[in-house]
Amino acid sequence: MNVPMLDLVAQYATIKDDVLSGLMSVVETQQFIMGPAVPRLETEIARLSHAKHGIGCASGTDALLLPLNALNLKPGDEVITTPFTFFATAGTIHNAGGTPVFVDIQPDTFNIDPAAVKRAVTSRTRAIMPVHLYGQMADMLELMAIAQSRGVKIIEDAAQAIGARRKIDGEWRVAGELGWVTGYSFFPSKNLGAWGDGGMMVTSDDAAADRLKKLRLHGGAKQYHHDEVGTNSRLDTLQAAVLLAKLPHLAQWSAKRREHAAYYTKAFGEVPQVTAPVVDPANEHIFHQYTLRAERRDQLQEHLKKEGVGHAVYYPIPLHRQPCFAHLGYTDGSLPQAERAAREAISLPIYPELTRAQLDRVIDAVRGFYR
Ligand SMILES: *Cc1c(COP(=O)(O)O)cnc(C)c1O
Repeated sequence: MNVPMLDLVAQYATIKDDVLSGLMSVVETQQFIMGPAVPRLETEIARLSHAKHGIGCASGTDALLLPLNALNLKPGDEVITTPFTFFATAGTIHNAGGTPVFVDIQPDTFNIDPAAVKRAVTSRTRAIMPVHLYGQMADMLELMAIAQSRGVKIIEDAAQAIGARRKIDGEWRVAGELGWVTGYSFFPSKNLGAWGDGGMMVTSDDAAADRLKKLRLHGGAKQYHHDEVGTNSRLDTLQAAVLLAKLPHLAQWSAKRREHAAYYTKAFGEVPQVTAPVVDPANEHIFHQYTLRAERRDQLQEHLKKEGVGHAVYYPIPLHRQPCFAHLGYTDGSLPQAERAAREAISLPIYPELTRAQLDRVIDAVRGFYR
């Protein structure tokens, strides 16, 4: 039995009628640009994020780029982030005119280390951009304390963490609630995935919301009046309709992912060569990825490939070691935890529709390699 890394066809079978009827209602009205499904989805995602405003945009990348653009970064302005993330996190900092400042991660959760953030703050720091990696939230309480004391903004990269939450001072706080602006991605493989590209920003700052709405529409709140230069980055109405049909399933899907993760983690407890993902006790993880640390990771990958078991390495090269950021001067050994994670991490299939037999197949394949 082959087990794919992700099986969107299996998900499609469970939601087909709802999604197709949502799409058809857009088709019937022919309102493809900013049709009613867009504000409806914006309201729903804002509510889910305990935020006042949702602002749809064309991708998760733009959901980070537009708030960075709203900071009006000047050459030399710094944004502190993690090197152990998808490229967009740092690429957008560069494209907004800022300098990414990479700091190391915590070895247990793979998330940005607040102590390292604190050491990296300078007079040029304008923002901190934590990533809630693999679906569990970064230490927002510590990060908020640093941001507030230094007067800098937090932009949450929640592309992998829609619906994730964290208990802070006895209260559940969700991804998107605490940062200045939060970016989500609806890339098809994300936990809430569209049928193409899409993204959304959420914020509770009224002025920021107005600004972001303008920036996604060529800098004008009113058509043909341009207060500043923005861009075209709208969320497609057809994609909003797909997402509205999928949204009622999201909580169950995340629960399924957690259930699969618990099953894997129990089994991998008996494989000393791998370390199961560590969930911070304050966090409720949504397991966008289930990521092990593994001895002889590259050989394990080869083995899983031969066995027909899906797997992926997120991320093989930390961003501070990417050629495009060589000019920033980081070297091998600059950020040892991120570099070690890049050598050891391997993600296994965790999508909700996996069967018990498929989970067992994955477990057996990993066990078989080390036996
Ligand atoms: C997917 C992702 C993005 C970018 O989203 P797109 O919709 O692909 O542009 C940004 N950051 C992280 C951490 C991601 O996983």
